[in-house]
Amino acid sequence: MKFDVSKFKRILMKISAVIEHLEAIASPAFQETYDNAGLLTGDAQWECTGIITTLDSTEEVISEAVSNNCNLVIAHHPIIFKGLKKINGKNYIERTIIGAIKNNIAVYAIHTNLDNVIKGVNGKIAELLQLQNLTILKPREQLLKKLVTFVPLEQAEKLRTALFAAGAGTLGKYSECSFNVEGTGTFKAEEGADPFAGEVGKRHEEKEMKIEVIFPGFLQDKLVREMIKAHPYEEAAYDIFSLANYLTDTGSGVIGELPEPADEISFLQKVKDTFSLKVIRHTSLSGAMVTRVAVCGGAGSFLISAALSRHADVFITADLKYHEFFDAGKNLLLVDIGHYESEQFTIDLLHDNLKEKYPNFAVLKTKIKTNPVHYFI
Ligand SMILES: [Zn+2]
Repeated sequence: MKFDVSKFKRILMKISAVIEHLEAIASPAFQETYDNAGLLTGDAQWECTGIITTLDSTEEVISEAVSNNCNLVIAHHPIIFKGLKKINGKNYIERTIIGAIKNNIAVYAIHTNLDNVIKGVNGKIAELLQLQNLTILKPREQLLKKLVTFVPLEQAEKLRTALFAAGAGTLGKYSECSFNVEGTGTFKAEEGADPFAGEVGKRHEEKEMKIEVIFPGFLQDKLVREMIKAHPYEEAAYDIFSLANYLTDTGSGVIGELPEPADEISFLQKVKDTFSLKVIRHTSLSGAMVTRVAVCGGAGSFLISAALSRHADVFITADLKYHEFFDAGKNLLLVDIGHYESEQFTIDLLHDNLKEKYPNFAVLKTKIKTNPVHYFI
C-alpha cells in the first residue's frame, strides 16, 4: 500500500530540538550558581505538540497549555527553584508541578542564562526604550579560554574551519577570529606509532601553523572533540589557557544611550507608557538630562554600583528595598518599575524567536497575566 505523505502535514519535532535552539541563544552555562534553569518536568525525547511562552509557570498556565494542546511550557522563572521535600499539592509550586506531570507537560525554564546574554531579557527592554550602543553593564569574568594548536601547513585551513564551526573565534560582532604563525615542529614517532609524516624511530621536522582561537569555556569539550577529529596527527598537539578577559556579550544588565537626550519627566513618562505602568518608584529628580540608561529586568539592586561606575544617568530595575534607594546618590536616577512589568516582554522575546525558527509550528504566548502584585490607586 502506498503512503500519501501529503496527509501528514503535522511537523514532527522533539522537545530536545527546541531546547537545543534555546540553549544556543542562552547557554545553561551562563546561569547564576543559585539558579535552576533547564528542563524541570517532562522528557526531552517527547514529540513536541506545541509551545507556550510565559514569564511564570503557574497552575493556570499549565491548564492553558493543556487546553491548547501544547506540551511544552517555556517559562522565564523556574517553578522549581529551591529543594522540594514533598509534592502533595499544599502550595502553588507543588500544585503546578503535579498539574504538569499529570498532563504530560514539559516545563522548561530559561532564567538567569537569558538575563546574562545581551540579546536576552535586558536587550529586549533596551530595544523597547530604543537604547543605542548597547553593552553589558557588568560583564562576566573568566568565561573565556584560548586554544592553541599546531598543524601541518596544508591542513591548517581545514582545522581552522572545524574550530570556527565548533563555535571558536567569535568576538563581539566578529566571527572566525584567529591568529596564525608559521614555525617548525619536531617529533619522533616511537615503535607502534603510525605517524602522519616522517618515519618511526627518526626525529622529524614539520613546517607547522600555530593557530590560536578564543572560545567560551563551556564549549571546551566539543571544541577539543572537533579539533581532534579534524587534526591529521595521531596525537594532536594543543594547549588550553584560561583567560582573565571578559566575555563581552555575557553578564548582568545592559547599558546604552537614548537617541536624543531627554529630560527626566518625559523620560519617566516614556517608561510608564512603554511598560503600561500604573506607578513608578524612583529617587529624587535632579533636573539633569538623561542620556545613558542602564537596565536590569527583575531584582537588580546588585547592579547599582555598576550603574554608578559606568556613569549611567538612570538605572531601571525592580524589587528595590528602601535603603537601596539611598545607594544611588545624587547623580543616578534609580527607577523601580516592578518585577513582572520589567520582564513582561520576555514572553514576546521567547515567542517571537521560536515563531521565527519554527514558522509552521504552534507557538503561543500565554494570555494569563501571572503578575501576583496589584496596585490600589
Ligand atoms: Zn524575574
